Amino acid sequence: TPLLRMQGVCKRFDNVVALSGVALEVRRGEVHAICGENGAGKSTLMKILSGVYTPDEGEIRIDGAPVRIAGLQQAQALGIVMIHQELNLVPHLSVAENIWLGREPRRGWFVDRERQREGARACLKRLGVQVDPDAEVSTLSIAQQQMVEIAKALSMQARLLIMDEPTSSLGEADATRMLRVVQDLKREGVGILYISHRLDELDHIVDRVTVLRDGQYIATLDWKQTRIGEIVGLMVGRELNQQFP
Ligand code: ADP
Ligand code: MG
Ligand code: MG
Repeated sequence: TPLLRMQGVCKRFDNVVALSGVALEVRRGEVHAICGENGAGKSTLMKILSGVYTPDEGEIRIDGAPVRIAGLQQAQALGIVMIHQELNLVPHLSVAENIWLGREPRRGWFVDRERQREGARACLKRLGVQVDPDAEVSTLSIAQQQMVEIAKALSMQARLLIMDEPTSSLGEADATRMLRVVQDLKREGVGILYISHRLDELDHIVDRVTVLRDGQYIATLDWKQTRIGEIVGLMVGRELNQQFP
C-alpha cells in the first residue's frame, strides 16, 4: 500500500477548474515531483493535501484508508506537513520556540524550556544543521529558516512532507544542502512531494514525476526513464523533445 493515494480529485473555484481527475501516489521514501506551468494546479493540490482546501470530488487514502483532510490539524494528525514557499516562522521567537509551536498544540501556559530546547536540538542535529536553538529566528538567513521549517516538520513526525519550491529563495550552496536533507529524509522513509520549476535540480533526488497542465492530470513518469524534454513537452502540451537534452 502506498503512503498516499489520490484518485479522481477535482477542485473548482467559481467557474475555474483548478484541478480535474487528479491521480497521485506517493510511496514511503519516495521523492515525487509535481511539474506544471504556472496555473497548472500545483499549489491547489498541495493545499488539498494540507487541509487548506476541501476537494469537490475524489478520494484520498493514507496507508490505504480513506481520509477527509478538513484542516491543518487533521493533516498533521495524519503526518502530512507542508513547507510553504513563504516561510511561516515567528521572527521574534527563538528557533526552539518556533519548532515547539509546530509540535504542541497550546495546552496552557506552562512550557518546559529545557525540554523544548532539547527537542529542537535533536531535530536540528538529525538534519545536520548548525543553528543555535536559542537564536532569534529574525537573525537567521533564509536558508537557515528553511532548515528550521524542516526541523519543525520533523518534530511533528511528518510522514508526508510537502515542499513548495523549497530552493527558490536559496543560493546554490544552500540549495545543495537542502537537497541533501531531502535525500536523508527519503532514506528515513519519509514520502516527499516536491514542487519545483527547476527540473535540473530534481535530477539526483526524484523517483517519479506527475505532470499537470491546466488543472488536468497528464501523466506520472519514472524519472530515470524519462528525458527532461518529454516532461517539458507534457507540461506545455507540445512535443519539444528535439530542443531539450
Ligand atoms: P500553480 O500552483 O500550478 O501555479 P494554482 O493551483 O495556484 O496553480 O492555480 C490553478 C488555477 O486555479 C489557476 O487558474 C488559479 O487562478 C486558480 N485558483 C487557485 N486558487 C484559487 C482561489 N483561491 N480562487 C480562485 N481561483 C483560484
Ligand atoms: Mg503559481
Ligand atoms: Mg503555485
